[in-house]
Amino acid sequence: MEFSLSLSEDQKDIQKWVHDFAERVVRPAAREWDEREETPWPIIQEAAKAGLYSLDFIANGYADKSGLTLALVNEEMAWGDAGITLSIFGSILAVAGIMANGTPEQITEWLPQCFGTPDDVKIAAFAVTEPDAGSDVSSLRTRATYDQSTDTWTINGTKTWITNGGIADVHVVVASVDPELGARGQASFIVPPKTAGLSQGQKFKKMGIRASHTAEVILEEVKVPGNCLLGGKARLDERLARARQGERSKSQAAMATFEASRPIVAAQAVGIARAAYEYSLEYAKNRTQFGRPIIDNQAIAFKFADMVTKIDSARLLCWRAAWMAANGVPFTHGEGSMSKLQAGETAVWVTEQAIQVLGGYGYVRENYVEQWHRDAKIYTIFEGTSEIQRLIIARALSGIHIR
Ligand SMILES: Cc1cc2nc3c(=O)[nH]c(=O)nc-3n(C[C@H](O)[C@H](O)[C@H](O)COP(=O)(O)OP(=O)(O)OC[C@H]3O[C@@H](n4cnc5c(N)ncnc54)[C@H](O)[C@@H]3O)c2cc1C
Repeated sequence: MEFSLSLSEDQKDIQKWVHDFAERVVRPAAREWDEREETPWPIIQEAAKAGLYSLDFIANGYADKSGLTLALVNEEMAWGDAGITLSIFGSILAVAGIMANGTPEQITEWLPQCFGTPDDVKIAAFAVTEPDAGSDVSSLRTRATYDQSTDTWTINGTKTWITNGGIADVHVVVASVDPELGARGQASFIVPPKTAGLSQGQKFKKMGIRASHTAEVILEEVKVPGNCLLGGKARLDERLARARQGERSKSQAAMATFEASRPIVAAQAVGIARAAYEYSLEYAKNRTQFGRPIIDNQAIAFKFADMVTKIDSARLLCWRAAWMAANGVPFTHGEGSMSKLQAGETAVWVTEQAIQVLGGYGYVRENYVEQWHRDAKIYTIFEGTSEIQRLIIARALSGIHIR
């Protein structure tokens, strides 16, 4: 494909349509669900009825060879509200996990169950993190053991910080099948709806993205049939045999999912930053002090020059990584991580500047900017902290296993 930064007519239409939904439905609901700290089921349902939360819509997004559609959609939605966006699109991490590791039969069986129908909406969760395994996903303790006589896997362990954890219909759980092999001894499992032994632990009260449910997931003697192992037993056995012979693996269950989803998560951070930039710019043009609009002061005006420059650079990194992912171009320099790092840091910085521009009015809940700042912070933490993104980039550029 020739180099171009022009959006196609289709992409512009989708961008406009999603922006309209974000402006009409999401933004007006943001404050309420932030205060309630609950999953906004009516908004998810409205997104499903509009066709925005559906397997078809997401599949078409993945099918876009430019890679930009899902980035555009996520930026517009998070412009409306990031917590609600995560409630609506939190399932996509599980979807990505199934697509990255599942067989064609598993993809066909489970993806529709992650979405349900507009009248009976379903959601999904992707559970990797544990109390003692956050950045270091190689040290997972959740254990899956196989009983050949019944073709059943039994999973035991505790997952924490799981988006949609315990309330999801479909849980994708990453567990160790051979602890001695560390990250290479892990596999992903589908835990079907209503499986006995899976329960929600503590639900966390968070600083931001409060409309998104985050909780522990407890797995006690959870039994799933053999066909719930993503990729199947034969492929797992081959992979384990290679790992035992000391061969380096090309990919690892959890990391493959996070790599592919980073530019999309980054696009959400760009959306929050853009919302704060636009809102505070309008404010600065209208707020008068010392007899002139505050934007007449270079100290304020230059903030906007820096804000928009950072936002545009974050978006471009995001589009580049999304394009690479869609075209199978490997992230040889940690390009996915670059997009997430730049977008997360930009969102935190821009939202803080926006509060400063609004002064006291930025510090109260009547205006959105304080919430945007709280929401932005998670983008330097989840799906790999900023430090871990830097580690990935530094390892890629140096070829050295920097610690
Ligand atoms: C709201 C929310 C939603 C989440 N959703 C999900 C989800 O759906 N599924 C899921 O599996 N997980 C989820 N997570 C977990 C998230 O991915 C982890 O919190 C994150 O990876 C960091 O792990 P940790 O919190 O254990 O921090 P730690 O790994 O303990 O890190 C603490 C600090 O040490 C730094 N650090 C650690 N190791 C290094 C190193 N080698 N070099 C330099 N610095 C280092 C980190 O950058 C960080 O600053 C979610 C988390 C939150 C808060």
